[in-house]
Amino acid sequence: MTHDGIDHHRGHGDRAGARPHPETRAVHPSLTHPTGSRPLGMPIYQAHTFAFDGAEEMAAAFEGPHSAFLYGRWSNPTVRALEDAVNDLEGGAGALASASGMGTINAVLMALLRSGDHVIAQSCLYGGTYAVLNDLAGRWGVEVTHVSGDDPAEVRAALRPRTRLLILETIANPTTQVADLPALAAAAREAGVTTMVDNTFAPVLCRPLDHGADIVVHSATKYIGGHADIVGGVAVFADEVLHHRVWKQATELGATPDPFAAWLTLRGFATLPLRIARASETALDLARRLAAHPAVTHVAHPGLPGHPQHELARRLMPGGGGGVLSFELQGGREAGRTFTDAVQVARLAASLGDVSTLVMHPASTSHRQLDAAALTAAGIGEGTVRVAVGLEHPDDLWADFEQALAKAS
Ligand SMILES: *Cc1c(COP(=O)(O)O)cnc(C)c1O
Repeated sequence: MTHDGIDHHRGHGDRAGARPHPETRAVHPSLTHPTGSRPLGMPIYQAHTFAFDGAEEMAAAFEGPHSAFLYGRWSNPTVRALEDAVNDLEGGAGALASASGMGTINAVLMALLRSGDHVIAQSCLYGGTYAVLNDLAGRWGVEVTHVSGDDPAEVRAALRPRTRLLILETIANPTTQVADLPALAAAAREAGVTTMVDNTFAPVLCRPLDHGADIVVHSATKYIGGHADIVGGVAVFADEVLHHRVWKQATELGATPDPFAAWLTLRGFATLPLRIARASETALDLARRLAAHPAVTHVAHPGLPGHPQHELARRLMPGGGGGVLSFELQGGREAGRTFTDAVQVARLAASLGDVSTLVMHPASTSHRQLDAAALTAAGIGEGTVRVAVGLEHPDDLWADFEQALAKAS
């Protein structure tokens, strides 16, 4: 470092005795790394390979998720900044970012499961997770037992000698069921089984590691990114051995995040606590107003006193029950479709955790292949509408919902 506090790395062009050819000079430019500068945010390190002074130092960089930067599929400074931020939020021993939530979930499943192993999973699971478990069952003989998510006795009854993993979701979609994380994770722990909790619906509100989980996964596409512009995932681990194991698998799997996507995610992360608090508050407000509307027969939000896990939700998420709610329309399938076609402030779109409010009618879109019986089993009615609340003023959203409800009545 020189007197100006800046690292100057001179290219070979200046070091070599004879002046090298243009080709050589072009690939070895004189670089100035402004380590003396102090940017408030993390810059984008759009770089995939990092140089070393010696083989020993380079060899050490192959060793683990906290090593020196080596190659982009192992890690990257911008990506690591995102991992550190989410790790800090969840109170973990280390985090791993991926190119998508499914990239994260696949890295965990592939790291922890061998053929013939057994998994216990909550029945009401994200569709992608459900599909991967089905694939693992069909192709690698991984067996899956589904449990309700309410009762640790079901977990104990499902345990087998080769049970490796319990999979839960803090808040399930679109039922807003809240899993009894402390009781279920304790049942798994007694048997030496690892618990993975998908906390996509409740970042900040709930810290599953504090309730006995071993791994927390997020689709950062949703609340953490928060602006409908990136796809990403993050896993946080309670201990370093698990972190190392899944990181190693992830380097082989290759669902590595791009530094630019990681940078956008970090930018969203800065306002995550404010956004999720506001979305939770507005969701509960809308849930109460919907519950009093004559066209609505049922409303699900963990903050409503009539919610089956209301007391549990208050314990696990004292800061609010999340930004997702669902409600059932008297008029069934036709009414559900009419409502989601009629909204003007809210948008008809998949996903959740965005700055704008998104609605969808599962029976005619995401769950259209399910017949009435299968819908009921998934906790979805013909007239169920899922609302993922954004940051609009609640009165504007309610005015929009009122006019859409009038059309759907
Ligand atoms: C969206 C979602 C995922 C998958 O995340 P992607 O980023 O779309 O791969 C996993 N779990 C839950 C609960 C989700 O909502």
